[in-house]
Amino acid sequence: MDSIPETNVAIVGAGLAGLTLALALHARSIPCSIYELRDPTVKTTGALMLSPNALKVLDSLQVYDRIRSKGYNFTNIAFKNADEETTDLYPLGDEQQYGYKALRIYRQTLLEQLRAMLHARSIPITYGKKFHQVLSASATGVRFAFADGTSASASLLIGTDGIHSTVRKYVSPSTTPTYSGTLAITCAIPSSALQFPADKDYSVLPVAIHGTLGTFVLAPQDVDGSEVLAGTQKKYPEQPREEWDRLFAGKDKLLAMLSEDKSSWPSLVQSALGAVPKETLSIWPYYTVPKLPCWSSSSHCNRVIILGDAAHAIPPTAGQGASQAFEDAFSLALLLSKLLSSQLATSDLAAALGIWQTYRQERIDRVIALTLKLNNTRLPKGERENLDQKMIWSSERDLGELEWLYNHDIEAAVLRALGEAAGPR
Ligand SMILES: Cc1cc2nc3c(=O)[nH]c(=O)nc-3n(C[C@H](O)[C@H](O)[C@H](O)COP(=O)(O)OP(=O)(O)OC[C@H]3O[C@@H](n4cnc5c(N)ncnc54)[C@H](O)[C@@H]3O)c2cc1C
Repeated sequence: MDSIPETNVAIVGAGLAGLTLALALHARSIPCSIYELRDPTVKTTGALMLSPNALKVLDSLQVYDRIRSKGYNFTNIAFKNADEETTDLYPLGDEQQYGYKALRIYRQTLLEQLRAMLHARSIPITYGKKFHQVLSASATGVRFAFADGTSASASLLIGTDGIHSTVRKYVSPSTTPTYSGTLAITCAIPSSALQFPADKDYSVLPVAIHGTLGTFVLAPQDVDGSEVLAGTQKKYPEQPREEWDRLFAGKDKLLAMLSEDKSSWPSLVQSALGAVPKETLSIWPYYTVPKLPCWSSSSHCNRVIILGDAAHAIPPTAGQGASQAFEDAFSLALLLSKLLSSQLATSDLAAALGIWQTYRQERIDRVIALTLKLNNTRLPKGERENLDQKMIWSSERDLGELEWLYNHDIEAAVLRALGEAAGPR
């Protein structure tokens, strides 16, 4: 039986999952420290869309009040056809129905707020520390090494080191991220440059225009929506990492790719394409992590665990990547605190982690199914019409379905899963 008598948790990766996990552990009086390979002065770009399930987690960790006014709050994304008629609305938040509006916030802003909260709680983050390998593990802890030759130990090692996770090697050695064949090309445009046609209704933003060539998205960001993310996605062959870097750096080529068949897009999109600040052009090749058999390593006494993108990087259309990472972090901290305070019928770490993973994977699977439905709305008309219509998102049919996603009670779900597994006591 692998019990955890006392804990100091080592977290690898100070991204969204790692920082949130640290706050959630601290809130439950579990000491932890983070090791992050990058320097804190490295700035990230781009904005994230956070939905009610993510904001509920951040609210319970006192993060939401700090970030709410630092991003763009909204409710629906409008789907439009090539004639710019609204065909559907997809809620990404709703204060009345789900407790929160959606929040689009710059990743850098969110990271800075999370880091400030860790600092205020004296949770240590060591920057410039690249996790390299696990040295040994036993029923009481794990010893691990960094790329600079130093080492450390902890009772648990949790990898929140993203899609290209090194910690994952100890949990699922053969797993590598899979390229989906799709590349997003995006940029950030001043919203003042957009020319909205007077005869079309653009009262709902963000908008996804399903044109003849694909889908073009315009999503306001910054507090007042004064900047807009603009972008589309294309089929594109997989490249080695250095070629992706080269593509990202070649702004003229990116602009040409984004502007391909410009005249076939509605005038609004053309106005966006005419105002692209080249330095904001970016790419996002869609990689996913295949379903893993396990999120912790039994050969390391379950002392090595992964979560967030390291465990389940998912396609982007439902905007749930970070949200699911927050859910992972919050639920794992809860599970560990219950284990530590012996409030469970089992003190078996492996069993408890297995229950947690089953619960988490079920939600991830549902998010992936929802993502597929949303992706199908973006198919060319002919392909869409050939599909079983139940495989395409329709708010008329599917709206009620979002309750499970946005109104989810993590605490109740974890306790129910643990209770069910333990049976009557
Ligand atoms: C362009 C883009 C837009 C997105 N938009 C959205 C959105 O709108 N909504 C949404 O929910 N999700 C979105 N996502 C997905 C979201 O960003 C991820 O799901 C989320 O960042 C996962 O968090 P994470 O902490 O698991 O991984 P990451 O954020 O990747 O963090 C991993 C951290 O680990 C560190 N690290 C890596 N290796 C090591 C090592 N060996 N040692 C030490 N540290 C290490 C990295 O430096 C990094 O800080 C988007 C992703 C991209 C790329």
